[in-house]
Order: sequence, then C-alpha cells, then structure tokens
Amino acid sequence: MEPKDGGLLIVLSGPSGVGKGTVCKALRSRMPELVYSVSATTRAPREGEREGTDYFFRTREEFLEMIRSDALLEYTEYVGNYYGTPRDFVERTLAEGKDIILEIDVAGARQVKEKFPRGVFVFLLPPSFEALKQRIAGRGTEPPEIIAHRLRKAAEEVARVRDYQYAVVNDDIEACCARIQAIITAEHCRSERVPPGYFREFERMTSAGPISER
Ligand code: 5GP
Repeated sequence: MEPKDGGLLIVLSGPSGVGKGTVCKALRSRMPELVYSVSATTRAPREGEREGTDYFFRTREEFLEMIRSDALLEYTEYVGNYYGTPRDFVERTLAEGKDIILEIDVAGARQVKEKFPRGVFVFLLPPSFEALKQRIAGRGTEPPEIIAHRLRKAAEEVARVRDYQYAVVNDDIEACCARIQAIITAEHCRSERVPPGYFREFERMTSAGPISER
C-alpha cells in the first residue's frame, strides 16, 4: 500500500546514543499531529520505560509468533534482541491521512524502503564520534562489552547514511527538531503529492489529459 495524498511515512534512524528517543519526544510535543509508531521488542524495559508507550515488551515466543503471522512491517535482531514495527497501526494511520514516524535501525529502514519507496528517510548523526562515545558510555546502564558492541554497531550504522535522503546532525535539540520539521513541511509540498482531484477544473480547460499523469 502506497499513500498518494495520505500521510507521510517518516523513518528516523541513527546510531545508538545519538538521541533518537529525545528527538522523537521533542518532535511529538512540537508536532502533536505527528503519530509515533511504538515498536515491539524482546529487550527488557529500561528504568522508566513503559509498556505501550516506549515499546511493546514481548517474549521471544510472542515475537516469533508476530513474525509468523506477518504482523510486522519490518523487524530486525539488534544486539541479541528482536525489534519490529507492528504493521496494522502504520497502515491504518497512513490511510487516515496522518503522518507517522518510525524510529528504527538501518536494517529495518531498508525493509521499509522496499515497501514504501516514497517514505521519507532521515538519518540522525552525532556531532562527532567522540560525542557519541561519551553518550553511549555515559548512560551507565550497560556493561562494557555491550557498550563496545553498540559502538561497533554505531559505526556500521553511520556507514549506511547514504541510503537516506536526509542527514541531520543532533548538535542542539531545538535546531535538530527545526530541521526535521522543515523536511516534513517540504515533503508535504512535493508537486506529486497534490491530489489528482485538485486539478479537475484546470483539466477541463485543456485537452492534454490528466495533469497528474504528465
Ligand atoms: P534501544 O534498545 O536503544 O531502545 O534500541 C536499539 C535500536 O533498535 C535503536 O537503533 C532503535 O532505533 C532500533 N529499533 C527500535 N525499534 C525498532 C523497530 O521496530 N525496528 C527496527 N528495525 N529497529 C528498531
């Protein structure tokens, strides 16, 4: 299913620790009409994370069942855990004409791009490698081997930046949100997004056929 004049499907990726969660939260308070896709995961909840708000926390069995029943738009295994996007919610939101943002990794983004080539793909970059290293270590919630693994994974993720149409540096939360809002506004203004019905009266004045098909 590919929306023509419905909502935008926005994918936000970036390495672990770049601040995707913070950016998403800030965006949602600035753009209350933007819908956020809550992922399912087999990872244990971090302190303060809530079921159904941050993630749908599922057992491995439950997750495998979601894969089997094709309930996920995409999924990936990331540092030993499964993460996936519930399909129904995304499709329903787009059909209602609303914009939805998916905060997912590069492997998931690749799967989404196959299904939604007209999606808007945004990659969040840290101001520098050093800044990212400090963010990952400073969180203090994970053992050193997991931190090292996340840093390696981060470098691999950054290497995929060219798969995305947009690269936004998260140097300052306000500036970062303003850039993403500008991207969303621009995407809504693309000429191919004007609904064909808009042109009806104009088409009656010419004999060259439907404007949206030229
Ligand atoms: P965390 O454990 O830090 O919450 O997330 C780890 C990574 O998984 C992040 O890069 C995050 O963007 C990604 N992620 C979260 N949900 C999904 C999802 O539904 N699908 C995919 N492919 N990646 C996800």
